[in-house]
Order: sequence, then C-alpha cells, then structure tokens
Amino acid sequence: MRYVSTRKGSPALAFSGAVAASMAPDGGLYVPERFPRFKPEDFEGLNGLSEIAERLLAPFFENDPLAAELHAICSEVFTFPIPLRKLPHAVLQSDTSVLELFHGPTAAFKDVGARFLAACLSRHPAPGTRTVLVATSGDTGGAVAAAFHGRPGFEVVILFPKGKVSARQEKQLTAWGGNVRAFAVRGDFDDCQRVVKQAFADEPWRKTRALVSANSINIGRLLPQSVYYAAASLWSARMSPGSPAGFVVPTGNLGNAVAALWALKMGFPVGRVALATNANRPISDYFASGVWKPAATVSTLANAMDVGNPSNIERLLCLYPALDDLKADTCTAAVPDPLIAATIREAALHGEVFCPHTAVAAHVRRGLREPGWIIVATAHAAKFDTIIEPLIGRKIEVPPSLAAILARPSQVVEIEPSLEALVGAI
Ligand SMILES: *Cc1c(COP(=O)(O)O)cnc(C)c1O
Repeated sequence: MRYVSTRKGSPALAFSGAVAASMAPDGGLYVPERFPRFKPEDFEGLNGLSEIAERLLAPFFENDPLAAELHAICSEVFTFPIPLRKLPHAVLQSDTSVLELFHGPTAAFKDVGARFLAACLSRHPAPGTRTVLVATSGDTGGAVAAAFHGRPGFEVVILFPKGKVSARQEKQLTAWGGNVRAFAVRGDFDDCQRVVKQAFADEPWRKTRALVSANSINIGRLLPQSVYYAAASLWSARMSPGSPAGFVVPTGNLGNAVAALWALKMGFPVGRVALATNANRPISDYFASGVWKPAATVSTLANAMDVGNPSNIERLLCLYPALDDLKADTCTAAVPDPLIAATIREAALHGEVFCPHTAVAAHVRRGLREPGWIIVATAHAAKFDTIIEPLIGRKIEVPPSLAAILARPSQVVEIEPSLEALVGAI
C-alpha cells in the first residue's frame, strides 16, 4: 500500500515514510491510495480490538518495514476497553448505543491514535532526537504526552491556546516534565495549528529538529481510529442484524469523522455518519452553500471541537469530491452552547453523565429519525468538571489514571502565536 498527497503533487510513500513525513511536501495530507474492501465474514471469530486491528490494518502495512511489527504494535496499543453499550431508552427516547472511547490513560479518544503513533515511530529508528510537535485544542496534547513521555529519542512540544482548555486538560498538558514541554499560546487553536504548519513548512528547522506531527494530519494518528468504528460496526451487526447502525461523531478537526468514513468505504456495516459540531459552523455552511469557507474559531463548552479551519477537510473533500456524494453518506448539524448544557442536564436526570462533546452528539441524535444510531463518547466527563458539575449538581468521580496526572506539579511557558516565538522559546 502506498500513501498519496491530497494535493496530488508529491511522490507516494509507504506507511512509515508517510508517518515520518507527517505532511506531504506539497502541503497536502497523506491518504491511502486505495481502500481495501472487507466483508464482515473476514472478521468471523475475531472480537477483540487488537485482533480486529491487526486484520484491518494488514493491507495498509503491506510492503512496509513495519509490517512484521504490526502484531506487536496492535498488542501494545489496544490494551484498554472501548465498550459499546445500549443507552437506556429514557435518556434520548430512542434506540441508541454509545461507544465509549475514553477509557485510555488520558480519558479521551486521542489515546488510541497517540499510542499507535508512538508505537510505530519507536519501532522505526532514526538518528538523533526527534521532536514531536503537537497543537492541541485540549485533549490531543495530553494523549501525546502520555504516549511519548520517557521514550528515549523523542522530545514532545505541545502548543495549546492559553485560557481555552479546561483546568484538568491543562494539567494533562503541563504536568509531565522530562522530555515533554508545554507552551501556552496567546491565541486560539487555529493559531496553534497554523504555527505547527509553519514549522513543517520551514524546511531547515524541520530538518534540524527532525519534526514529527502528532496531530491528525499525521496518517499514523488517524488510520488506527478506523479500527474502533470497524469493531463497533461488527459488534453492533452481530447484536442486531438488519440495517447497519450509523455513527454520530462529535467533530472539530474532522479527523475522527474521516476515520469513520474510511471504515464505511472499507465495507464495514456502517450506516450514515453524522458530523455533529458545536457552534463552529464551517461544515454546516458547506452543506448549505456547497462552498468550503473556513471561519474564525468560536469558543464553546465543547472546547476540543473549537476549530474554524479543520485540517482534515482536505481528506474529506478528497474522499468526496462531490457534495452530493458526501450528503448521501453523511449529515451534519451544529449545536449551540445552551442546547449542549440542556442535553447534559437532562441526560443526568436519567443517570448518564456526558462530556460536552458527547452531549453535542447526543443532541444531534435526537434530530435523526432512523433507529439504531451509535453516539460516539469522545471524553470522560471528569475532564470537564467545572462545566458539568454545576449543571448536574453533583461531583463526578475521577478515573484513577486522570487522578494520578492531576496530582503532579505543572510547568508551562507562554508565547505569542508565531513560529519565531516558538523558535525563541524552545
Ligand atoms: C479532539 C476531540 C474531538 C474532535 O475530534 P476531531 O478528530 O478533531 O474532529 C471531539 N471530542 C473530544 C473530547 C476531543 O478531544
């Protein structure tokens, strides 16, 4: 399998080459040159995430030096549960399941991709120290820090928008020390993402620091995310055969949604994919007007989705050059803060505590008529205690791995939103 640029102007690479390069030289993002087609029967007898991952990813690792390591990589990465369970009918008054992606070390779905990337890169040796550069709207940075902390040959540089992440998210970004450094950027997430892109475009700097991106622009971060959609679609089809369930995906940078659509393209029993956004509306506007136009970021309660210029739009448009084809496989809706808050409050009355991002998906589910949707729970509510606790009027229990990080001291440096500022501070 080879990986090509979404802009079609760069040579194709094998998997580890595309991972090491992060972005294509023409400024595009790497995508698989084709998608293998699977049938549910290909996975008969396989139930665990790690085994499903290995079978699904094998064609993507063909002709790659890492192919022989795929078993070891999947066993190292998929060690925590990703449960699919039915929601009690009372919660959303519909037949809905929830896929809980937040049982990893940092309590958000970003753990899957970050751990996969770390497992791949550490088996793909390079001379000297590599710098893993990551822009985060809240959760990616913590997951990447956890995945690379203490790994020899890597240092991690995290950029996050100052004052725009939750206190506990900030703790997960800044409490590592050792080979992990966090910078609070005076700007928003799109500023952080822009500085990262400038760093990659600065050829000499990129080379001296041996930069690697741990954002979902990196195919090594994104591809393993298709695994949990594939697995959940198989589990769901085995439990209730018939028309395949769709996924409602809380969407910001469009990485997780593209991973779901890749699973659909590979032939897994996936219905439609609903792109659920907060008040950041570029995707809704695109569906309405047919013209893609990034917008300034709006701050919302679902901060990890505060993205006005999602990177993975390039991969989405590459997969669906025609808007009508995109509309056949997806739908979209934007949920303003008051409805996020109301959804959290109402679900809590029935014993479900949603994080604000999951609440966006839950609200969008309400507007969908077909039975059998799966809402994707992207983070644990305890990361957003200052938003959730006042809404539901009770304390949320903190998972032990999160509690361990919260107990450590923080270190952070503030910088202006420019590459010069980063180069000066690093
Ligand atoms: C990152 C994140 C999202 C958005 O995912 P994208 O891949 O950027 O669309 C949603 N919810 C949570 C909790 C996140 O951390």
